[in-house]
Amino acid sequence: KESGKASWVRFEPRMRQDMVNHARLASELQNGIIRGELRLLYQPVFDLVTGRLHGAEALVRWQHPTRGFVSPGEFIPVAERSGLIVPLGAWVLREACTQLASWRAEYPNAIEAVNVNVAVRQLREAGFVDEVAAVLSDTGLMPANLILEVTESSVVDGWQVRETLQTLHDIGVRLALDDFGTGQSSLSLLRAFPVDVLKLDKSFVDGIADGEDRGRVAVAAAVAQLAEHLQLKAVAEGIESREQVDRLRDMGYRYGQGFYMAKPLPAAECGALMAADPVRAA
Ligand code: C2E
Ligand code: MG
Ligand code: MG
Ligand code: MG
Repeated sequence: KESGKASWVRFEPRMRQDMVNHARLASELQNGIIRGELRLLYQPVFDLVTGRLHGAEALVRWQHPTRGFVSPGEFIPVAERSGLIVPLGAWVLREACTQLASWRAEYPNAIEAVNVNVAVRQLREAGFVDEVAAVLSDTGLMPANLILEVTESSVVDGWQVRETLQTLHDIGVRLALDDFGTGQSSLSLLRAFPVDVLKLDKSFVDGIADGEDRGRVAVAAAVAQLAEHLQLKAVAEGIESREQVDRLRDMGYRYGQGFYMAKPLPAAECGALMAADPVRAA
């Protein structure tokens, strides 16, 4: 129906199988949420100039009793289409904020803020702002301790979502545009939209390699310039080599995350990095 009145799409048996698989995965996910099969890992974000730990992004994992580990690339789309992303996302938000509060109570050099990915479907819920406010108040965090990661497509979703993001920003929650450079939004939107952080998508970082892709490198450099002119924080994601660190820092990326520095870690291991971080002389 979506492809227009005059066109027909053949309903292949494979499509039917996909729908069955999707429905099964969705119902297992629903049980999984209830049974506590979800976990959060935290990928450290580093200051590329000082080399110090700067922040961490919460990334959800699903340990299924028989399927084993299911990657978010598989179950997040299922959660989005079924609407399960709303309770799943609520759990992620509360868990990540509780973890940050506990790190901040334990370590003098704990990170300032935790990054939490938010799907557009969550932003469309009327109660989202209240939910965020309740989690912050219950965990004793300040709004600035939370960075919500949204994709460019969320920003162009409609006025309601934009209003929600504006309200969150007004109360002091920070917003990051995730996978930046891959979306469809126009650059002028950035001026109207209350964004604080640009996260350059990994695909552009991949361009900095032995057989260098000049097009992608040019985009990476342009995004750093854009962030500087708009006074936004620039974060590069998916860094896998020393060379990429050096080049990105020289382009103007103050912050970065990637397997070269650290993979997503269990909370205790991420906390150990904070414990090991030398307290700067006052
Ligand atoms: P994302 O938010 O862009 O997260 C970055 C992804 O890149 C993570 O994959 C991370 O493990 C991976 N990554 C980081 N550094 C490197 C690297 O150097 N090399 C490679 N090859 N990969 C790297 P992950 O954890 O599998 O998550 C995939 C996506 O699933 C996320 O992309 C995000 O869009 C979504 N996601 C994960 N957790 C949540 C969540 O709690 N809520 C929502 N709505 N989405 C989530
Ligand atoms: Mg993210
Ligand atoms: Mg990303
Ligand atoms: Mg990504």
